[in-house]
Amino acid sequence: SIVVTGATGQLGRHVVEQLLEKVPAEQITAVVRNAEKAADFADRGVRIALADYNTPASFDGLFTAGDKVLLISGNEFDKGRVAQHQVVIDAAKAAGVALLAYTSAPGSLTAALADDHRGTEEALLNSGVPYALLRNGWYHENYTENLAPTLEHNAVVAAAGEGRVSSASRADYAAAAVAVLTGEGHENQTYELGGDTAWSFAEYAAELSRQTGKEIAYNAVTPEALTGILAGAGLPEQFAQILAGVDASIEKGELVVSTGDLSRLAGRPTTPFSEAIAAALKG
Ligand code: NDP
Repeated sequence: SIVVTGATGQLGRHVVEQLLEKVPAEQITAVVRNAEKAADFADRGVRIALADYNTPASFDGLFTAGDKVLLISGNEFDKGRVAQHQVVIDAAKAAGVALLAYTSAPGSLTAALADDHRGTEEALLNSGVPYALLRNGWYHENYTENLAPTLEHNAVVAAAGEGRVSSASRADYAAAAVAVLTGEGHENQTYELGGDTAWSFAEYAAELSRQTGKEIAYNAVTPEALTGILAGAGLPEQFAQILAGVDASIEKGELVVSTGDLSRLAGRPTTPFSEAIAAALKG
C-alpha cells in the first residue's frame, strides 16, 4: 500500500486528499500521532496507523514489503530530526519497502535549516532502501499565512536583498509526491522542486500593493536586524536566527529552483504566487 507519515500535517493532508482521487482508500495508510486528528480520513476508508518518530517501537511491523512510503520531515527542531527520520528509514528497510520518498530541501540551500535534510538524505542513501528525494523548495504559504503584520505595517520586511524565491503551494508539492507514489520509475531519483516562476521581495510588495490598493513597500534589512524583529515579535531567538539565515540564502539565490521538475511531475503549471496571495487576502 501507499503509506504517508505526517499525514495530519498541512502537507500530509494535501497528499492524502490527492491520493484519494487516484487510488482506493483502502490502499492508503496514514501514519499519525493522534487518531482523533485523522478521524475524517478513517471515515473515508483510509487505514490509520499510530506511530511517533520519537518511539521507534511504534514503527515495528508498520510497513509491509512492497509498500511505497512518503516520509514527511518532522517539525520538532529541538528533538534531533535526523535520528527521528532514521527510525522510519530503519523500519522501512526491515520491511523491504519498494520506495521511500523523503520531503527534503533544495540541494542548493546552505542555510542551517537544510542540515537535518542533508543528514536524512545521507542516512537514506546509506540504508540501501530504494529512495526518491523530493527536494521541496519554499511554500507560498510561508508568506501568505503571515500577512497580518505585513498589512498592518504596509511593509514586507525581509533580509533577502534582491534575491528571488521559486515558491509553490503545498498542494503543488503534494501533487509531485503523489505522482512519485503512484507512478513508476522513481527509484533512486532526486527531484529539485520549485515553482515555475521566481519572484523578488520587491515584486512581492508590488503585487500586494496592486491587490490591496495600499502602498506596501519592501523594507530590506540585514539578517541581524531581522533576527531582532522576529525575536521582538515573540519568536524564540534561535528560530528567528534560522529564519534570518534562510533570507541570507535567498539573497544568494539558493531558493531559486529552475529544473521544472515540479510542474513536470504534477503534470500542470505550478500555482502562481499572485493566486496564493489573492486567496489569502480573501481569507
Ligand atoms: P506541519 O508542521 O503542518 O506538519 C508536520 C507533520 O509532522 C505533522 O503531521 C506532525 O504530526 C508530524 N510530526 C512532527 N513530529 C512528529 C513525530 N515526532 N512523530 C510523528 N509525526 C510527527 O508541516 P507541513 O506539513 O507544512 O510541512 C511538512 C514538513 O516540511 C515540515 O514538518 C517541515 O519539515 C518542512 N517544512 C517545509 C517548508 C517549506 O517551505 N518547504 C516550510 C515549513 C516546513 P501532527 O499532525 O501530529 O502534529
